[in-house]
Order: sequence, then C-alpha cells, then structure tokens
Amino acid sequence: MSLVVQKYGGSSVSDASAIKRVAQRIVETKRAGHSVVVAVSAMGDTTDELLELANAVSSDPPPREMDMLLTAGERISTALLTMAIRDLGVSAQSFTGPQAGVITTEHHGRARIIDVTPGRIQKAIDEDHIAIVAGFQGIHEDTQDVTTLGRGGTDTTAVALAAALGADVCEIYTDVDGVFTADPRIVPTARKLSRVTYEEMLDLAASGAKVLVPRCVEYARRYNVPIHVRSSFSAIEGTWVVSETKDGDPMEDPIIAGVAHDRSEAKITVIGVPDVPGSAARLFETVAKADCNIDMIVQNVSAVETGLTDISFTLPAADGTRALAQIEADKAEIGYDEVAYDDTIGKISLVGAGMRNNSGISAKFFAALRDAGVNIEMISTSDIRISVVTRSEKLDDAVRAVHSAFELDSSEGEAVVYGGTGR
Ligand code: ASP
Ligand code: MG
Repeated sequence: MSLVVQKYGGSSVSDASAIKRVAQRIVETKRAGHSVVVAVSAMGDTTDELLELANAVSSDPPPREMDMLLTAGERISTALLTMAIRDLGVSAQSFTGPQAGVITTEHHGRARIIDVTPGRIQKAIDEDHIAIVAGFQGIHEDTQDVTTLGRGGTDTTAVALAAALGADVCEIYTDVDGVFTADPRIVPTARKLSRVTYEEMLDLAASGAKVLVPRCVEYARRYNVPIHVRSSFSAIEGTWVVSETKDGDPMEDPIIAGVAHDRSEAKITVIGVPDVPGSAARLFETVAKADCNIDMIVQNVSAVETGLTDISFTLPAADGTRALAQIEADKAEIGYDEVAYDDTIGKISLVGAGMRNNSGISAKFFAALRDAGVNIEMISTSDIRISVVTRSEKLDDAVRAVHSAFELDSSEGEAVVYGGTGR
C-alpha cells in the first residue's frame, strides 16, 4: 500500500460544491487502496480578503496577529473538507499545522519549516483515517505562536509532510493541467511538460512561474520527494517534477523547459556612487538592514573624470519602499548623488538544463526580443537560465515572442485554465 500526499489549492476548494468534488476525489484515492494525507489551502480568495480586512482596521497590522488571522482561512477549508469526506462514509480527521507537527522559524508572515514531527498524522494513517491538514501554517517552538509560511505556502506544507512521512508521491492539485512552457493565460498554445527537473522547476518558480512556490521545490529536491503537478478539474496526467537521473535519459530532454515572467519586482538605481572598494558593501549592508531580498544587480563602469558609478538592483516591489527609505536614511554613509525608484518593470526568464551544452541560446533569445521591439534594461544569467528586465507593458509580447522563437508551442491546441485568478 502506498502513501499519497495531496495538496489542493484555493481555487480547487472555492465553494461548497468544489469542496464536495475534491472530497470525492480524495475518497477515490483512498478506495484505490492508498493511505491519503491532504494539505489544503484557504477557500478561493479568502487569504486576500482577510488581508484586506486587516488593512481596513489597522494601518500597520502586527505580524503576529496577522498570522493568527490568516491561519483561520485554512482552518475553515480543512474542517469543511473533512466533513464532506465523512459524509461520503469514509473516516477522516482534520488537523491544524501545529497539530500536524509543522515546526517553523519565528518569522511571522514568512516562516520557514525547520522540522516536521508528524506523530498525530502517522497515528491517524495507522488507524485508517484520511488526515486533512491545514496548509500554510506552523508553530514556533519557543513562543508557541502560530506562523504562516508566505503566500502559496500550502505547496511547502504538502512536500514537507510527504518528506516527513516518507510518502511515495506528493500530488499538487491546481487549476491547470500541469507545468507549462509558459503561463497559458498569456500563451494559450503553451505546452504541458511531462517532466521537469527540480533545478529547472526551481529556476522557473523563482523567476515567477506561479504553479509552485520556490520553497516547496527546494524542499522536494533536498528530500527527493517526487512531485506530480496536476489539475483537480480533470483526470489528465500532469507534470512530474523529479531529479535529473530519476528516469529517462537526460540527453533526451528538451533543451528549454520554459519561459517564466514576473511583474512583482521593482528596480532601484543609486546614481553617483564612488567607484572605490567598499561602496557596494555599504549599499547592500543598508539594504540588508531593511531585510530585503535582492534579485539582480548591475554596476556600470565608472566615468574616468568623476570616478563615480551607478548601481541598479531589483527586489520584490513589496519591499521597495522599505529599502528606499533605508537608502535615503544612510545617504551620507553610502555617499551617492541620487536614488531612483521604478516599479513598472517586468522580468522574462528562459530556463532549461540543456543550456549548459548548447550554444547560441542567448543570441536567439535576444533576437526574439529585438524582433518584438522589446528593450533590454538588465541581464542576468545562471548556467541554466537567462533573465532580462524590460518594461512591464512589454512583458506579454516578450513572453510570446521568446516562446515561439524556441518553438515551444503545443501541437495539441490550447491549454485549459480551469479556474482561479492566477494571483
Ligand atoms: N492561502 C494561502 C495563500 O493564498 C496559502 C496557499 O494558498 O497556499 O497564499
Ligand atoms: Mg493560494
């Protein structure tokens, strides 16, 4: 008998009938002879609605209370799903993240899982119950406060449970049929990948592909948990996220896995920084003080006459004002002329493990952007990824142009987006 961990996202449990449909699906898996553990997200847009409510009653909601509020969303869907399963005559029990043994760091709003002690879940499985676990939440051991894992954190809950329980597979159910070569909302002819490696998926997720959160892929790679991304609205085989050597011959894999895009970042340019040892260190120490995560960094060559240079970097727009305020506060220490902020940027990334041993990929990528009239503002690369920052309003054109230049279109017609808002 195998153990299957399933994750259902908010759009899969958006109302009573959706919950009943998912319950049916879980029961079918159980009746097929598997042990089943489920991680579930809050219904529909509940998390966004709770966030809006918090901001309506407070100008600066305390992070601890915010987590108390947001974890309520997953508690509701968990209890309702368990009731729906029991109505089908199958035994099931619901658990909060803390009850399931999800231990996290203290960082409210973006805690990391440090351990899972799934004693109660194991006991439920042993007693032949289906265990339904509230996603996206855990507990900090010292304070005993509830924490949340950051948006989309239920993916990580599912993979962490799968790793701790030694599950055979972690099935991530979402509102599209799998991982596509581009967001089907932008490129309707995007092709579903049958398999993708952890490292490619990690780069796709970190570059804005919303189908899985990066943390969950990191976790799966570390513990070698096979992920099957599939739709809760169809029975179609989805995409397997696996290690490179798991199955098949890596040489047979396509060169390019896909195109990702991201509109959530902003760009800060610090103008007139002295081109002497220590300047960059001072600037980024300042940014680190504001607790911001940096993505790309570009430093220009300095003008010989002035010995001054410009440094640009990108970061999540949500962190933008905080970083900017800190840079302004430390102006004298850093010693720059001016600072500029731009949140109308977009980033497009091309990802594929085959880039390592194929030449001409960058040339083809840049040519596609040129033909689409897209101007490049920043470039960064890794051995399996090329990313470019451009204007936000040009991003959809850029994605379509690059997708077709690399001949990633499906021959099987348009991808189906079953629901959800894609946010
Ligand atoms: N409900 C949370 C969110 O909307 C967590 C999740 O869906 O995974 O981000
Ligand atoms: Mg969600």
